[in-house]
Amino acid sequence: MAAHIIDGKAIATDLRARVGAEVERLRAAHGLEPGLAVVLVGENPASAVYVRNKSKQTQEAGMRSFDHPLPESVSEADLLALVARLNADPAVHGILVQLPLPRQVDSQKVLSAIDPEKDVDGFHPVNAGRLATGLPALTPCTPLGCVMLAKAVHRSLEGMEAVVVGRSNIVGKPLIQLLLNENATVTVAHSRTRDLPAVVRRADIVFAAVGKPEMVRGDWIKPGATVIDVGINRIASADGKSRIVGDVAFAEAAEVAGAITPVPGGVGPMTIACLMVNTLRAACAIRGLPAPAV
Ligand code: NAP
Repeated sequence: MAAHIIDGKAIATDLRARVGAEVERLRAAHGLEPGLAVVLVGENPASAVYVRNKSKQTQEAGMRSFDHPLPESVSEADLLALVARLNADPAVHGILVQLPLPRQVDSQKVLSAIDPEKDVDGFHPVNAGRLATGLPALTPCTPLGCVMLAKAVHRSLEGMEAVVVGRSNIVGKPLIQLLLNENATVTVAHSRTRDLPAVVRRADIVFAAVGKPEMVRGDWIKPGATVIDVGINRIASADGKSRIVGDVAFAEAAEVAGAITPVPGGVGPMTIACLMVNTLRAACAIRGLPAPAV
């Protein structure tokens, strides 16, 4: 195996520690205690684990965590009323509504009801527009983490050929904007792209955000390229259990790449750490303080 393995877990631990130190400084200097409210509807086990981790890591970073579990049967009106209360609550600086939401609720309506200043997931159209036009914005956590991982390998992404496979609103599209802000040359591939292997082979950095287990093969990777694998796919393993794999065939790609993120242990831990960063940034902006140094 030739590639350097990018240790997302260690990089995320370091980032959370820096957030914690900044929270401590803000408390001492300004009496500011950043607070994150997380709304979880229903009993989806994967979402529940994710929300538990968020609450735990929020508290470990010295911030306040407010959990709002709601039944699967919640009405759209009740959910919107909760968002309105959280928008008005001065102890809450970040609001996250865990997706997916049940069928009776219009997700876009709920996400658009969150005060953009508290939109720590960065999904509000105002933040998407601000990011696209180069204004300061709260940015979706997963793409933010992807760029941090790429910059853990390359101090600057300027002029590099970056290929993003996937164009979703939560990963691919904001990632494209963040990479443009880093002055990378960006190509976006999707399900209608012709000759995807040839497109990926051009890349100095590949970001795979597709949701198809091990779709990106080793012989698609330019020798020495950096590979950031966003995919989280559960597949059956030979022993009848299941395991998590990414969108990249890791063992093959690691033979060719210069650096690669593992799954799990790559992008995943960065997503929650970036949520802490966004909560801290939101708290500073709401209080009129300069952006924190993380
Ligand atoms: P999504 O909304 O389903 O979008 C998938 C994208 O991949 C779409 O743009 C789609 O193209 C494209 N695509 C699908 N099949 C393709 C193919 N055969 N060739 C080329 N492109 C193809 O998924 P997502 O929400 O962005 O998530 C992507 C992956 O990242 C999933 O595995 C998800 O679990 C994972 N994820 C991980 C984290 C994390 O914290 N690590 C966070 C979020 C998501 P079209 O637009 O043409 O349909």
